[in-house]
Amino acid sequence: MNKFLLFCKKVGNKFLDIVFPTNTKCIFCEDEIVDFEKKPYCERCEKTAFNTGTKCVKCDTQIKSGNIICDHCKSHERFFEKCYCPLNYEDSVRQSILRFKDSNARYLAKNYAKLIFEYIKNENLQFDFITFVPSHKNTIKRRGYNPANLIAKEISLLTNKPCIETLIKVNETPQQKSLSYQERAKNLEKSIIPTNAKLIKNKTLLLVDDVVTTCATVDQCSKILRIYAAKVYVAAIARNHLKTDIKKTPA
Ligand SMILES: [Zn+2]
Ligand SMILES: [Zn+2]
Repeated sequence: MNKFLLFCKKVGNKFLDIVFPTNTKCIFCEDEIVDFEKKPYCERCEKTAFNTGTKCVKCDTQIKSGNIICDHCKSHERFFEKCYCPLNYEDSVRQSILRFKDSNARYLAKNYAKLIFEYIKNENLQFDFITFVPSHKNTIKRRGYNPANLIAKEISLLTNKPCIETLIKVNETPQQKSLSYQERAKNLEKSIIPTNAKLIKNKTLLLVDDVVTTCATVDQCSKILRIYAAKVYVAAIARNHLKTDIKKTPA
């Protein structure tokens, strides 16, 4: 093959990689895998990616064996029924979610939605509508999309339940990452308002987010939704575990 043809092949492959980026690669670590259709992740990631073991019955964080509920859920009123997170927000899963949120890897929404769908199907979860944690319009403009909305739409396709907008973020909140639960909750209180309230009256909702850390965001959203809705369940791709609960001795 001459140099020009080789060059065309290289460019062509690169183009295919961009258009169909995960066809043969692990959705978490991006290593090549054998049967993507069967399992879109490699064996190494499979060992650590999934959120299993003893978990809080309310917020799905890992807790010390023998415990039922984490300290945080024990001491804070929760406005949602239960939270479902199939993955751990660690290592290659974390890298994958960062690509999804910050590097335009929107195609991952389909894979994440499938993992959430399999999890809630196993739990036989029933609900009327799917909704999502809102992003401020400036954030959507900057990023090009709301990651939670993308996943919610894909779950809607898998479950045949309508995906509707129920919350609007009217004020931009500062970066939540470094803030405590109370600070996060306070920041959110006046920044989110409801919409489609009539539609969700007495209904059961599945509220979708990307990552759950302190539960402040999903709890504040649930609090607003519960003014109208009968019940709110929460689903996210991954749980950023509260390390203190894992280390604690059984209560
Ligand atoms: Zn992998
Ligand atoms: Zn909990």
